Amino acid sequence: MENCVFCKIIKGELPSTKLYEDKDFIIIKDINPSAKVHLLAIPKNHVPYIDMMTSEGTTLLGNILLKISKMQEELGITEGYRLVINQGENGGQTVNHIHIHILGGEKLKDM
Ligand code: 5GP
Ligand code: ZN
Repeated sequence: MENCVFCKIIKGELPSTKLYEDKDFIIIKDINPSAKVHLLAIPKNHVPYIDMMTSEGTTLLGNILLKISKMQEELGITEGYRLVINQGENGGQTVNHIHIHILGGEKLKDM
């Protein structure tokens, strides 16, 4: 998708620090971290919002959660982590390409 910052990162048109990549998604460092470890898991397919996702998309999200749990050491989150999806304006979504925030590396504040 043109003008989508995450699509540009996926295509290699913008730089990022990539920790993982397969055919379906990438895990990169967030450019403006909110925790000691702040990563973004981003499906390669451009879908703006979780309420626009197909069943294929939900399967991929499940696979991403599983992969994160298996990569805790590499990601620096063995002591625990928080996964967040911001949806829409009230949710604080700023990039309209579905992504999961992975937060950890320290004791996070209570929500
Ligand atoms: P949202 O607010 O949509 O849930 O999250 C978007 C996230 O993307 C923010 O945490 C923001 O810091 C991050 N972000 C925005 N632009 C870039 C970029 O160019 N590179 C990286 N690595 N992260 C970005
Ligand atoms: Zn996109």
